Amino acid sequence: MAQVTLNQVRKVYPNGAEALEASTFTIPDGELCVLVGPSGCGKSTMLRMVAGLEDITEGEVSIGDRVVNDIDPADRNIAMVFQNYALYPHMSVARNMGYGLKNRGMDRGQIAAKVREAAEMLNLTEFLDRRPSQLSGGQRQRVAMGRAIVREPDLFLFDEPLSNLDAKLRNQMRIEIRALQRRLGTTAMYVTHDQVEAMTMADRIIVLSNGHIEQIGTPNEIYEHPASTFVASFMGAPPMNLLTAEAGQGRVTLPGGDVVPQAGVNGHTGPVQVGIRPEDIIPSPQGELTLNVDIIEELGAQRLLHGQMAGQAFSVAVPKDQEAVTGEMRLALKPGAVHLFDADQGRRLG
Ligand code: ADP
Repeated sequence: MAQVTLNQVRKVYPNGAEALEASTFTIPDGELCVLVGPSGCGKSTMLRMVAGLEDITEGEVSIGDRVVNDIDPADRNIAMVFQNYALYPHMSVARNMGYGLKNRGMDRGQIAAKVREAAEMLNLTEFLDRRPSQLSGGQRQRVAMGRAIVREPDLFLFDEPLSNLDAKLRNQMRIEIRALQRRLGTTAMYVTHDQVEAMTMADRIIVLSNGHIEQIGTPNEIYEHPASTFVASFMGAPPMNLLTAEAGQGRVTLPGGDVVPQAGVNGHTGPVQVGIRPEDIIPSPQGELTLNVDIIEELGAQRLLHGQMAGQAFSVAVPKDQEAVTGEMRLALKPGAVHLFDADQGRRLG
């Protein structure tokens, strides 16, 4: 068991590219921390520095009480799970799972007991004699998990472990991994570009953009109080609507003159961005805002209405039993629906 701390950790690759600005945070013991962001934002670089697979340009990485910068990956007591599973094709499931222990010199009886225990946890008992090629993608990923578990590491590192699986299996596996991590109580860092995975699995999310940390928080904090327009539009599906508007005289006005309800501007004046999540809107004849609906998208449980508000793209999500037609529609907002950001940097106001 261990907490993980990055203290001013920075990465510049030999070609001069700064992949990660100096970053500082702590993952408390036992938490699952998700690193999320678009491709190229620096997630894998961060994970690989913790793993010891990549040099640390500046700063310190600690696992437990130990600074691990100069400690060999094999001696960091971590276990990694990759998207390509990295299983040995010519070995049985049991041998794949026990391989790391054998290398450590553990005796055969002990290895067999640990492998059996992990296989039971992962519903792999009946597959222990098979080769990886005789397993489904989900089963292979569970073998990779099993290999990580038997080592009883201080820290699990997951690098997009579910991206090779189809959507249904991905949903199932993310629940399994989450349940297993909770049960074992092992600290984990989990890299994904999938915001749904981040929201559903994390105790704490680190949102990265372009080599810097945009926000660190619980899924709820990130969803309810995104620190920037980047976080606001990256986390949440469909994404938060962002409208250009003008703040002044204590209120926020959209192009065309409609006043945005609930927008407390705290004396801010000038251009702002107004964020409203599609699910925080209620169609209502008394509503203060107007949407011109062009397209209605049926999602089963929900219906998405896409159109224009004050000449800007805007979407609304309504439950399936709510009638919807194209054309003009009045909208009201749920309490707390309005997020304000500055127009230049996209930082949250207030
Ligand atoms: P992510 O995992 O979020 O997709 P990476 O950590 O792989 O992002 O990459 C972050 C940035 O560093 C990207 O701009 C990428 O092109 C660059 N990068 C990654 N690996 C190397 C490398 N070995 N040499 C130079 N640049 C790299």
